[in-house]
Amino acid sequence: MARYKDEQCRVCRREGQKLFLKGSRCYTDKCSITRRNYAPGQNGQKKKKLSEYGTQLREKQKTKSFYGIQEKQFRKYFEMASNKKGITGENLLQLLESRLDNVVYRLGYGSSRAQARMLVTHGHFEVNGKKVDIPSYLVKAGDVIAVREIRKDSKIIKENVEANAARPVPEWLEKDEKTLSGKVIRLASREDVDLPVEEHLIVELYSK
Ligand code: SF4
Repeated sequence: MARYKDEQCRVCRREGQKLFLKGSRCYTDKCSITRRNYAPGQNGQKKKKLSEYGTQLREKQKTKSFYGIQEKQFRKYFEMASNKKGITGENLLQLLESRLDNVVYRLGYGSSRAQARMLVTHGHFEVNGKKVDIPSYLVKAGDVIAVREIRKDSKIIKENVEANAARPVPEWLEKDEKTLSGKVIRLASREDVDLPVEEHLIVELYSK
């Protein structure tokens, strides 16, 4: 059980970066990356030189873990990104940021993306006044995301609002804590994405 509980931290340790998979613990010095920043396992402290393919693969895995996306869906986002105008890697990150579960997390109404996904699935949120329970729903500029009236007294939402009050909200979103809502001012640009990733390596991997 202890091992299972540490599984998300093992993902961060494997990538050597904080991926914020565990909610409030990630922002404390209990974070495993703060305490043991080396890969899990017997040989975790040995430095491994990765091949070109290995480096590309790690960038993809890290991004998938950060946003909590499975391979099939991640590839679908890549194809959508390739078909859009602009730089494919940046389009990919913008699509991932636009997911409703990510927006709920970014606004601080979910303590982690995984919890935000669960809250969306359980019908806690609406977009432009209509209930949306699809975590992969892609928001657009001008959309208003809000906790539904009947869920405003939810204990978990109240706890999240309090615990995440000091967590910065990205510039592309505007949070209104009084009404438990948030507005998409514009879609996220590359500079807004705080994941240290070389997205061009993901594009190279999928373009082989
Ligand atoms: Fe664990 Fe969160 Fe730290 Fe990652 S960032 S190692 S999930 S506590």
